[in-house]
Amino acid sequence: MLKIIETNSPEETWKLGYRLGEAAAGGQVICLNGDLGVGKTVFTQGFAAGLGIGEPVNSPTFTILQIYEEGRLPLYHFDVYRIGDVEEMDEIGYEDYFFGGGVCLIEWASLIEELLPEQVIRITMEKDMEKAFDYRRITIDGYDF
Ligand code: ADP
Ligand code: MG
Repeated sequence: MLKIIETNSPEETWKLGYRLGEAAAGGQVICLNGDLGVGKTVFTQGFAAGLGIGEPVNSPTFTILQIYEEGRLPLYHFDVYRIGDVEEMDEIGYEDYFFGGGVCLIEWASLIEELLPEQVIRITMEKDMEKAFDYRRITIDGYDF
């Protein structure tokens, strides 16, 4: 099933993330794709809050994976934007996270497409400058909520 959600502010995208974080189940792998600055991290911040994570969530420049364990479920936040080679994923032992009991959120997941499990939730975010500067079209594939 494909679901399309339109947001018009960062707060709306944050709230969408929050809702999905509240509903999240262990084992989910959520792939976030879309250009730089589209709102993947804003979504992730809402998602983390929805899981009950209080500490600040960012996309660290030189870290592929950040782990947050204080919420209802462990959150494994990947940002693979700067990955040079998929072997870097092996080095961090990604399979333990993809196939573990927590939730994975992967910014720029398309860059590691060959490593993704068969069953993932795909979230694609797009701008449309003809609509508005803060408009985002968010397409969710593979998730019923
Ligand atoms: P990404 O992680 O995709 O590179 P970020 O989440 O870091 O992007 O940044 C998104 C930027 O776009 C933020 O500055 C945010 O305030 C802004 N923004 C404007 N409108 C929206 C919207 N509707 N949803 C999400 N972010 C938005
Ligand atoms: Mg980001």
